[in-house]
Amino acid sequence: MIVSAYAAPSATEPLAPTTVERRDPGPHDVQIHIEYAGICHSDIHTARSEWGPARYPLVPGHEIAGVVTAVGADVTKFEVGDRVGVGCFVDSCRECAACRAGEEQYCERGMIGTYNAVGRDGEPTQGGYSTHIVVDEKYVCRIPEGIDLAEAAPLLCAGITLYSPLKHWNAGPGKRVAIIGLGGLGHMGVKIAHALGAEVTVLSQSLKKMEDGLRLGADHYYATSDPDTFKTLRGKFDLIVNTVSANLDMHQYFSLLAIDGTLVEVGLPEHPVPVNVFDLCRNRRSFAGSMIGGIAQTQEMLDFCAEHGLGAEIEVIAADRINEAYERVIASDVRYRFVIDTATLPAVAQ
Ligand code: NAP
Ligand code: ZN
Ligand code: ZN
Repeated sequence: MIVSAYAAPSATEPLAPTTVERRDPGPHDVQIHIEYAGICHSDIHTARSEWGPARYPLVPGHEIAGVVTAVGADVTKFEVGDRVGVGCFVDSCRECAACRAGEEQYCERGMIGTYNAVGRDGEPTQGGYSTHIVVDEKYVCRIPEGIDLAEAAPLLCAGITLYSPLKHWNAGPGKRVAIIGLGGLGHMGVKIAHALGAEVTVLSQSLKKMEDGLRLGADHYYATSDPDTFKTLRGKFDLIVNTVSANLDMHQYFSLLAIDGTLVEVGLPEHPVPVNVFDLCRNRRSFAGSMIGGIAQTQEMLDFCAEHGLGAEIEVIAADRINEAYERVIASDVRYRFVIDTATLPAVAQ
């Protein structure tokens, strides 16, 4: 099926309308009508080849929410009409220890990204800025009733990327958790850490978004542009999750960790991050990283969000505003996720 999409033609050109071909559903595939696709900062890093050369034309989008429109003969998990989501990957080897443990994002042979990868069929994968996608049912999650589809879309990347480390490092009652950066990932971190019962602090560049941060569930809010912040908060946190898309001076942030505290990096800036190991030896601190989450945990996160009434705070946009939205994300002018309404993609004659 030929479907409408928006693609980056190269690293330096704006995204523009195009079409992509989606395969006919195989026995284990579900065909999904995408209703909403979130704009993740990773889409921008990739579209602009900031993480190395991307494959063009590139249709980004790995925060996909929609409805099943067809199922293959052997599909057991889904039926036509089900509300579903697809995140950052659409396949993996299914055999390695990571895949067997449900940590497909760490597949030893490499997960197959929702875009900028090559699928099992040898064709380039193309993402969610598009009206339809066909995905093996194993890599599709159910979006529970009670979460609006537009607000659910960002959970498929931003939501799981914060839920997974917060669970892994036991965010909960009695834990002092800081989230650096109140953007798409950060605002979900605040909501989820608060729902898990942790004491949550936002570390943002300024106090401009303080009212929002406190409303989303933060107990405290500090500006990192104020040098007093680093004096006041010295040694105060058990867990810090850094969601910032740009390079930060980590020395200052390590100083905020308590004994045995961990700073988890989920932001993926373009350039390497220098670390002074003295900052880690002092207070027996850990510096860790985390990447999205497996399919089972993504489903757990969606169910958790439904149970706690959590969705993303979104601004729904028409497809012709994608390029403008990219500029606003880069300028940290987003509250807190742009979501594309795919009904605004140009119609395609079938
Ligand atoms: P985003 O919406 O742009 O949020 C990033 C936030 O970082 C901004 O809102 C801003 O918060 C802060 N920030 C931006 N530039 C800054 C600077 N120069 N100095 C200090 N703070 C700055 O981006 P996102 O979609 O949440 O993604 C964040 C990063 O995570 C990206 O690098 C993305 O590629 C990566 N990512 C990683 C994973 C993973 O699995 N590990 C998954 C998804 C995304 P304030 O205005 O509050 O300061
Ligand atoms: Zn993402
Ligand atoms: Zn594997």
